[in-house]
Amino acid sequence: MAEFELIQNYFAQLTQQREDVLLGIGDDCALMRVPDGYELATTTDTLVAGIHFFDDVVPEALGHKSLAVNLSDLAAMGAEAAWVTLALTLDRMDETWLAGFSRGFAELAAEFDVQLVGGDTTQGPLSITITAFGLVPAGAALKRSTAEVGDLVCVTGQLGDAALALRALQGDQRAKPFLNDLRHRLEYPQPRLAAGRALRGMAHAAIDLSDGLISDLGHILKQSGVGATLQLADLPLSPQMRRYLESEDDFILPLAGGDDYELCFTLPSVMLTHAQHRVTDFTVIGRIDAKPGVRLHHHDGSQLKQQFVGYEHLI
Ligand code: ADP
Ligand code: MG
Repeated sequence: MAEFELIQNYFAQLTQQREDVLLGIGDDCALMRVPDGYELATTTDTLVAGIHFFDDVVPEALGHKSLAVNLSDLAAMGAEAAWVTLALTLDRMDETWLAGFSRGFAELAAEFDVQLVGGDTTQGPLSITITAFGLVPAGAALKRSTAEVGDLVCVTGQLGDAALALRALQGDQRAKPFLNDLRHRLEYPQPRLAAGRALRGMAHAAIDLSDGLISDLGHILKQSGVGATLQLADLPLSPQMRRYLESEDDFILPLAGGDDYELCFTLPSVMLTHAQHRVTDFTVIGRIDAKPGVRLHHHDGSQLKQQFVGYEHLI
């Protein structure tokens, strides 16, 4: 199948048409209209076979996840998702794979009214690069650099489930019993766009959790010139994670496991009740303080000794 045919068959009509797309797939560029009073938010993420996903992952899941990780970045800025481009490098022509991948991609795109407006298709080792574009009212984007001393540190959802599923897939026998329940948390992350939008004008700072809480919260802390104290007993954990946690060492999963795609945000405490009404499912896990770094406290006030680093790629 030629590149043109492939684009026609799988991507040209993949997503719904938005009225703000003046020209979609088929020309040298796509043309979109940014409404008055809004700013354009944009982000790119690449997923490479063997590094970001297993070669044998279900293609639907890959289509979903490669879009989800980009929409998650828009969520973290408080932006509304609008348009995406898809640069696909394929190792071979595999129509079953393409059908599955595009189905997973399209289902998530439909959920958030996102239109695929362009891309590129090349041959080489399998990799997927998506650029997502979103809209945010002028001046209202949530940033990493604006946390303040005294803010509450909050996270949406539950932490570490994706990392626990990954451990099971990597052969950890203790994790295996939880794989069935948690696999979707690794393969089908849900971008928290509604939460991000609701937090505009409330949260001081926000980030999405891709590399683990400590690492990603660390970006907020560094860029804001502050520190944080977290309460381990307050970390939101699934029943499966609670059953898995046997020793202090296991806290590495909720604290430093990647792929959560939840939002971490800092909230002035006067906003707490308001936020609880507007955002479903978030938990206060600590406070921003002036001293740099992160302190992790047990129930009895003692400090967790272990040092954590988030997942970091070599490049
Ligand atoms: P050009 O060589 O001018 O970049 P291409 O032949 O690569 O054009 O692409 C033709 C059209 O198809 C363009 O509008 C491009 O954005 C779109 N396109 C190419 N690959 C993809 C893809 N994987 N997904 C969505 N659109 C694509
Ligand atoms: Mg091209």
